[in-house]
Amino acid sequence: MRVCNLASGSSGNCTYIESEKARVLVDVGKPLEYVLNALNELKIAPDSISAILITHEHTDHIKGVAKFARAFNIPIYAHSYISEILFNQLSSVRHLLNFFDADFDIADLHIQPFPVPHDSKYCVGYRVSEADAVVSIVTDIGNFTDTVYEAIKSSALVFLEANYDPEMLMSYPNYPPFLKKRINSDHGHLSNLSCAKAIEKLVHSGTRLVVLSHISEHSNTVNLAVNTIASYLESKNIIPNVNVRLDIAHHEHRGTIFRINPTNKN
Ligand SMILES: [Zn+2]
Ligand SMILES: [Zn+2]
Repeated sequence: MRVCNLASGSSGNCTYIESEKARVLVDVGKPLEYVLNALNELKIAPDSISAILITHEHTDHIKGVAKFARAFNIPIYAHSYISEILFNQLSSVRHLLNFFDADFDIADLHIQPFPVPHDSKYCVGYRVSEADAVVSIVTDIGNFTDTVYEAIKSSALVFLEANYDPEMLMSYPNYPPFLKKRINSDHGHLSNLSCAKAIEKLVHSGTRLVVLSHISEHSNTVNLAVNTIASYLESKNIIPNVNVRLDIAHHEHRGTIFRINPTNKN
């Protein structure tokens, strides 16, 4: 598999995953021009995308879906629990909407959606496999539950939310108290320390690559996220860049291109 985050954060999310026979985008929360430029950098023709997978109905995950899907006639997949909302919000591409309530395949990619605690109508993460090569995406998660851990454990690569630093969140003057409470709740977003504890578990399950994602523009910084997570992991004898590689998903440009190959293709 070839995998690359194209954008991550409250200003828009989009991740590209490619197998031998399929090319999918997880969420399209950026404008069409942005996504076309990012795909162009990867030398991917937009009309070669096999499907768009939606995690949940928040704007930063779907605001670019309709334009992209309509322009290139791309099928869209989302959980049946958000069908009504999407029929409404993506009404111009109703004919391209497909709803799942179980695992499914897109060519040689096996897609395993799983529920994630978040304050949307319904939110899923995805475990995506090409044979035994596994990549998981879990952002917009209030709480790293056992269900989430079981769903993504032993993935080679995980895009995992490191949304906020609690002190920065509480002292940020432009968020009203209800929003701070929402972000900080079990159905909001994941703090740096909660992310670190999740990484600790994932490393023990065999994960060796974590891309810190959905980093807040107001209540976090890349340095703070990396330093908090690295020092927690070191205190547990997990050495960053020895036992696990930490990478970053950015707000306004694509991240690293990773290759995760099935064992029979190495
Ligand atoms: Zn989001
Ligand atoms: Zn959200």
